Amino acid sequence: MKVGLIQSALEAYRESHPKKGFMIFQALLAASLIAPMGIWRFTIQEYPQGVFDLTLSTLFVVIAYIGSKDQYFHLVSRIFAISYTLGVLITIQYTGIIGLFWSNAATVAVFFSARRWEAILVAIVIYLTCIHAVWNIAEPQLLFTYSACFLLITFFCFNFSTRLLADNSRLSQEALQDALTGLGNRRSLDDHINKVANSDDPPSTAYSLIMFDLDHFKQINDSYGHTTGDLVLARLADLIKSKMPSNVRVYRYGGEEFLILTPTDLDQASLLAERLRQQVEQSKLIRELSAPITISLGVAQKQKGTNYRSWLKAADDALYRAKATGRNKVCTALPDDLVPPSWRD
Ligand code: GH3
Ligand code: MG
Ligand code: MG
Repeated sequence: MKVGLIQSALEAYRESHPKKGFMIFQALLAASLIAPMGIWRFTIQEYPQGVFDLTLSTLFVVIAYIGSKDQYFHLVSRIFAISYTLGVLITIQYTGIIGLFWSNAATVAVFFSARRWEAILVAIVIYLTCIHAVWNIAEPQLLFTYSACFLLITFFCFNFSTRLLADNSRLSQEALQDALTGLGNRRSLDDHINKVANSDDPPSTAYSLIMFDLDHFKQINDSYGHTTGDLVLARLADLIKSKMPSNVRVYRYGGEEFLILTPTDLDQASLLAERLRQQVEQSKLIRELSAPITISLGVAQKQKGTNYRSWLKAADDALYRAKATGRNKVCTALPDDLVPPSWRD
């Protein structure tokens, strides 16, 4: 069982779920350290402590097992934090001053399992219980040294988890954002539109995709350089962000192609697309450009039974028609565009 759990912890690390991997390893490590102590207590006939240690050790193995299942991860990490705390609180009653050592390890472990403020609360409970348990038997110097160490460890853990949280949220935001334009990137687009495409919304919830592409963008790059081309893309993104309603999502599909997901039907989405086309044409994104920047747009509404790929393809086909019939215009998907590709073959 342990080997299986170690394997799933390693897999969790590889599948970028390090918190789960860490939790499994932590529980197994705790179990491996506590079990020998339980056996040793039996040899010196301290049976209650022996039973307690072995029960705690078994509990950690069970926790590691349940925690390896994704659906129970959050629940188990809390149970894990509580078990650690209870373990320390009971240990300190039996072992006295030696139990103080465990309180430091338990506090660090709780910061890795529970939320920051829960962990602070647990740290306070651990500290007060430990101090209370050894108050009459410990030297003042030991009480002071223990208190200072405990405070420093708690402070470092809190700071570390605050930084980790901030880094994680920045990284996960960056992972879904396009660096040049600040719009949603291909990954967030695929995730979100796939969900919308596959959801079985009631018929009253309409969704449409607007795909658009800059006209003759290569000429801008060729005439003014790629830096100016980049600036055009960034300014265009700013314009779209400022003009689009808040319930609309905008993504950079790739290169100079963009995608808008709007919770509206084809007619309203076409109006939105036409308004955007005019706004781009009228805006002076970059002063030194001699001709106005224009875009061509294709619009397709989500239909029952179509999947993400065929919906996207319908918008792409409409965009292709806008390009082929003169550019700087909006075309809507034809009924035929929305037939899933597999039905056409
Ligand atoms: P059309 O009207 O048919 O769309 O013509 P186009 O010139 O815009 O289309 P084409 O696909 O031939 O060229 C797109 C150009 O966009 C080619 C590529 O160099 C440029 N491009 C793609 N991504 C970027 C980028 O991030 N920055 C810059 N500066 N250029 C980019
Ligand atoms: Mg283009
Ligand atoms: Mg293109």
